[in-house]
Amino acid sequence: MQNSMMYFPLTIGSLIDHAERNYPGSEVVSVETAGNIDRSTWGEVARNSRRLASALAKLGITFGECCGTIAWNNRRHLEIYFGVSGSGLICHTINPRLTPEQIAYVVNHAENKVLFLDKTFLGYAAKLGAHFNTVKHIVLLGPRDEEAAAMVPGLMFYDELLETGDADYRYPADLDENTPSSLCYTSGTTGLPKGVLYTHRSTVLHCLGGNTADGLALSNHDTVMPVVPMFHVNAWGVPYCAAAIGSKLVLPGPFMDGPNLVKLIDDEEVTIALGVPTIWQGLLQALEQSGSKVPSLKRTLVGGSAMPPSMIRTFRELYDVEAVHVWGMTETSPQGTVNREVKSQLGLPETERAKIRESQGRPPYGVELRIVDDADTALPNDGTTQGALQIRGHWIVESYHRSGASALTDDGWFDTGDVATLDENGFMRIRDRAKDIIKSGGEWISTVELENIAIAHPSVANAAAIAARHEKWDERPIVIVQKKPGADVTEATILALFDDRVARWQVPDKVIFVEQLPLGATGKVLKATLRETYGDVLITETA
Ligand code: ADP
Repeated sequence: MQNSMMYFPLTIGSLIDHAERNYPGSEVVSVETAGNIDRSTWGEVARNSRRLASALAKLGITFGECCGTIAWNNRRHLEIYFGVSGSGLICHTINPRLTPEQIAYVVNHAENKVLFLDKTFLGYAAKLGAHFNTVKHIVLLGPRDEEAAAMVPGLMFYDELLETGDADYRYPADLDENTPSSLCYTSGTTGLPKGVLYTHRSTVLHCLGGNTADGLALSNHDTVMPVVPMFHVNAWGVPYCAAAIGSKLVLPGPFMDGPNLVKLIDDEEVTIALGVPTIWQGLLQALEQSGSKVPSLKRTLVGGSAMPPSMIRTFRELYDVEAVHVWGMTETSPQGTVNREVKSQLGLPETERAKIRESQGRPPYGVELRIVDDADTALPNDGTTQGALQIRGHWIVESYHRSGASALTDDGWFDTGDVATLDENGFMRIRDRAKDIIKSGGEWISTVELENIAIAHPSVANAAAIAARHEKWDERPIVIVQKKPGADVTEATILALFDDRVARWQVPDKVIFVEQLPLGATGKVLKATLRETYGDVLITETA
């Protein structure tokens, strides 16, 4: 039968072809691992990605095989994103902060044939190479480097590999859009990491959803800086979104500390930056010290863990930056919600609008959310009823890589492991992760809410609320606080912050000060580790 409309598969190759056709001169700025700045364009990135695809074919890597990366956010990594996926191979981005055992596990589980490494991570190849069962070629991201060559026998060099590729190579136009394109593993805080295998179709639809005015809302006029690593859920899809609109892209390399980010934002006139709250805590401290007002910066998109309301206020009031709360997970590609007001809310008093901004926001077209009780029965969207958050849509996982089993409920939803409320406008508010929530005397206490109160104090750099075991109440909240350098604050001052802000029975029983909160592979506080260390502190004290 004749189609009434043209059909083209939704492919990653078509995204970079579009960037090359329409925005060849638009800049890609990359901070290299050695610290120097590499200036390139979407046109060059597109050409190099095609040469890479051709070079990999000449190496004998065939359709559907997997190429791993352990790399920072930089230009070569960007070319791999498009060259590998565009040609029908799978781009497996590996989180270098996984343990060596986990890295060997994911490399073998994914059956990586090629491994691309930044120089920082060359040690993995030297140490773990013998455990990589399927890897045929290890490629250093850079030109020939004799010191590196001496460390890893047979090491190849990215720039030399590109030379062997054909710049006239074209991405297959008839690729089935359901072909797998990239692979990310969850960070494995509980058990072995699980792989989520994205497809061309899911990635392109996710990119189109992100590029709406109520989504990430990137524009060609923006200078976009993903601080979220390219090894963390494909940098939230930003490389694809930026290619679709040809915006200037700034890739910060390994230098994600506050002072370096301030300098990069000012030097490159970044307008939109994206990352987890711990990154922005570092940035805000650096701004305080440097006195820069980051005049170019219009918006930060913040997610991965809850953004404290005090951070939204500081960005708005001191720097005129809109801090937009987003939520998602590896299993959701990750964009699940973005906080954008609906028109009817624009006339509300500022205090109410500020409250709305604190929530995780609304789903874009393409995903649906619901909250359910223990029997998977849907609960009302009234803004107060809490339930298990479930999600479904075009870019949501159906089954984990090679698990052979569905990851969904019987009626086809993915359970996120988060506890949330939904309101009548679709705004979702995360109350907690189901495994973190504190159950005190049969009532629930949100750790996120307690943390937000503690973090708002000017002497507090970061805080985590956890459940401590209690003889009478089963669990009671305690707060672990990391002070700002040189700051002085007492337990009594922190505890007083909770008066009148939460019900009396929700006020934490104890405050513990630590030098540094333990952070996991994606910059989130490791609450399980804190529970192991401090979980018995109330029992020990009363015993
Ligand atoms: P990991 O499980 O390794 O942390 P993800 O990066 O996929 O992997 O984390 C997803 C989880 O992060 C979500 O289920 C949620 O608990 C948390 N999260 C993400 N964004 C937010 C946010 N804006 N507010 C609160 N929690 C968030």
